[in-house]
Amino acid sequence: MAGTGEDATLLGEALEALPDPVILVDRRAAVAFANAAARTAFPALAVGNPLVFALRMPEVVDAVERALRGEAAVEAEFTDRGPVERSFALRASPLPSGLSGSDRTRPAALLALRDLTGAKRLDSMRVDFVANASHEMRTPLASLLGFIETLQGPAKDDAAARARFLDIMRVQAKRMARLVDDLLSLSRVEMNEHRRPTAPADLGAVARQIADVLSRLAEERGVELECTLADGDRLVVAGDHDELLRVAENLVENAVKYGRSGGRVDIRVERVHTTSGDEIVLSVRDYGPGIPAEHLPRLTERFYRVDVAESRDKGGTGLGLAIVKHIVNRHRGRLAVESRPGDGATFRVALPALD
Ligand code: ADP
Repeated sequence: MAGTGEDATLLGEALEALPDPVILVDRRAAVAFANAAARTAFPALAVGNPLVFALRMPEVVDAVERALRGEAAVEAEFTDRGPVERSFALRASPLPSGLSGSDRTRPAALLALRDLTGAKRLDSMRVDFVANASHEMRTPLASLLGFIETLQGPAKDDAAARARFLDIMRVQAKRMARLVDDLLSLSRVEMNEHRRPTAPADLGAVARQIADVLSRLAEERGVELECTLADGDRLVVAGDHDELLRVAENLVENAVKYGRSGGRVDIRVERVHTTSGDEIVLSVRDYGPGIPAEHLPRLTERFYRVDVAESRDKGGTGLGLAIVKHIVNRHRGRLAVESRPGDGATFRVALPALD
């Protein structure tokens, strides 16, 4: 393709349009060309200036030197510790015509970069997730093993201790079962997240059903549960009925569990007009201690809890709100939390109205 000026222009335009950063350097390692992606990633790049003015990492310098000595396809990884840390993979290749010609400013090596930041973040999230899940499992498992050993040894003939230990063991085993159930639903929801549900689902009916199901729990905890559907509003969304039940269940259960001292939980479903169309909004409000502001942005992270001991004590897995968030995302909706400490918390789910 080389040869005519037109071809060279076309090649330049093609490099410019590539989504990944591409840089050409001459044989003195000065920048001969940097495409748009490269200039965005490294604003200090300037044609004619030494590459090290913009990219001073030793891995880059070394790879460029080796390519300029004629070594083929030198690969390296480097991290740019700017205001936000970013990682890149680099492949440096010599350009023989630029290396051997008489013109010292001709491109002599091509540097192709790939941003690894997103992939690295995902990797570390995955590692954290496995570590957290194993840790959550290990605690009840260790306690079960401890009690089994005690029952086989020192407490073998102690009927009263046996009854007491078996009770504790049942609680621990149930906790593990809940954790496994939550992990499975989280992975199921995540798997389907790109597929938006299409069947009509009545959010009002969902709220009613959950208020019924949880009325006993509320009564046991001395909490008055009130469910209000806005008069005459059509409350239908495109949704997966079972998943929406899980959303409402998690939110109302949390409100009853954590907000019980307030003695009341209000569930409300209404239709709201917005500039981008009507929304059906489910809100769950409690009057308990509320949630300090610094925790609000992290509540939907897996295993994040404001108070780990309190959550465990109440049978929580730390996955409920993560499941809620993924289901809401799948429905292309929004989840918002408002809370003033001492004045309870309001969780609001807004989904686009079906019609
Ligand atoms: P858990 O299984 O621990 O309940 P969730 O993901 O459902 O996990 O909730 C995460 C944390 O958010 C809880 O551990 C609790 O600290 C806090 N939280 C959730 N809902 C409320 C609420 N209504 N009032 C106060 N804190 C809450």
